[in-house]
Amino acid sequence: MKDTVKSLSAYQAELPVKVIKEKYGLKHVSRLSANESVYGPSPKVAQAVREVSDDILGYYPDGQATSLREAVATLNQVNPDNLIFGAGADELIELLTRVVLEPGANVIVPSPTFGEYAMHAQIEQATTKKVPVDEDNGHVNFEEMLKAIDDKTAMVWIANPNNPTGVFETTDAIQNFLDKLPQNVILVVDEAYYDFVDKPNATVAPLVSKYDNLVVLRTLSKAYGLANLRVGYGIMQEPLFTAMQAVRLPYNLSTYQIAGGTAAVLDQEYLQKNVAKFQLERKKFQDFLRDNNFKFYESQANFIWIKVGETKKVGQSLLEQGFQVNDRLNSDWIRIALGTPEDNAELKLAFLKATNYK
Ligand SMILES: *Cc1c(COP(=O)(O)O)cnc(C)c1O
Repeated sequence: MKDTVKSLSAYQAELPVKVIKEKYGLKHVSRLSANESVYGPSPKVAQAVREVSDDILGYYPDGQATSLREAVATLNQVNPDNLIFGAGADELIELLTRVVLEPGANVIVPSPTFGEYAMHAQIEQATTKKVPVDEDNGHVNFEEMLKAIDDKTAMVWIANPNNPTGVFETTDAIQNFLDKLPQNVILVVDEAYYDFVDKPNATVAPLVSKYDNLVVLRTLSKAYGLANLRVGYGIMQEPLFTAMQAVRLPYNLSTYQIAGGTAAVLDQEYLQKNVAKFQLERKKFQDFLRDNNFKFYESQANFIWIKVGETKKVGQSLLEQGFQVNDRLNSDWIRIALGTPEDNAELKLAFLKATNYK
């Protein structure tokens, strides 16, 4: 076995709501721990999946995911031959790492950020340099990221908005960084939470045609409410595109994923309606945090990163009050996804109770 794999431990998935209800005798649990959408997907998704003919079950799916490719290309105004699909953005993260990193290489990430980047680097026998975000406002420290680059650096990852901080970096800031990056270093901008941003020009996707070292990732798991279907995609040009096509498994998306994913992408009205709800709830919850003098980072995602101190105690209290949040990422900061307006109203009271433990 690879040495770098021996020290890894399995991802600790969320406890199922049913288990929590039984354990704490709760009637209702709001699951706010994994940044899923409380509104779920467009009803057109289930309809499209149901309409897939049973006759296809014995045959491999369309390895090019043609209908999904066309819908995504139109949506993003990109060339269909710039798109790679995967079972969630997670699969793209795994594949990119696999394609780019040689043993002994390093990657650079802001800290904190999504754990998958460093985990996959480790599997490929590469190391990760973590550059702390600005303690005051959570912004990525681009200057320090540049300083961290050495001749073994092969990739830089930026989740935008970042997870778990929720902080958004402008397209200008990223392009400026990209211009200073050595051309042999790949920059992946993971836009898993892009849909929740309420600022103009929030994506760097239009830059992919100008920079062959830029990759943009997207997922249908968050704003589209489709975490269970497992659909994500990457936007990239040559030479990465051909390498990724060669390395990915030929039938990595089933016909159900392709049909459901296509229906989701085509129903932009449903998406935008839910995004507007999240944006309003985000504003209300951040106003509440400000009014009560909590330290948090201005979020452009569907979750908020809040400094509470003694995270585990706060998380446990919230759990017993029926709110499942993420208390496993940091000992001082907690990540809470936004729920329905009703849940969020109750969450405020529960949160005040939980943070008054002192
Ligand atoms: C949730 C998330 C993903 C992965 O989503 P998939 O469900 O695998 O599509 C990727 N990046 C970030 C930053 C995320 O938070």
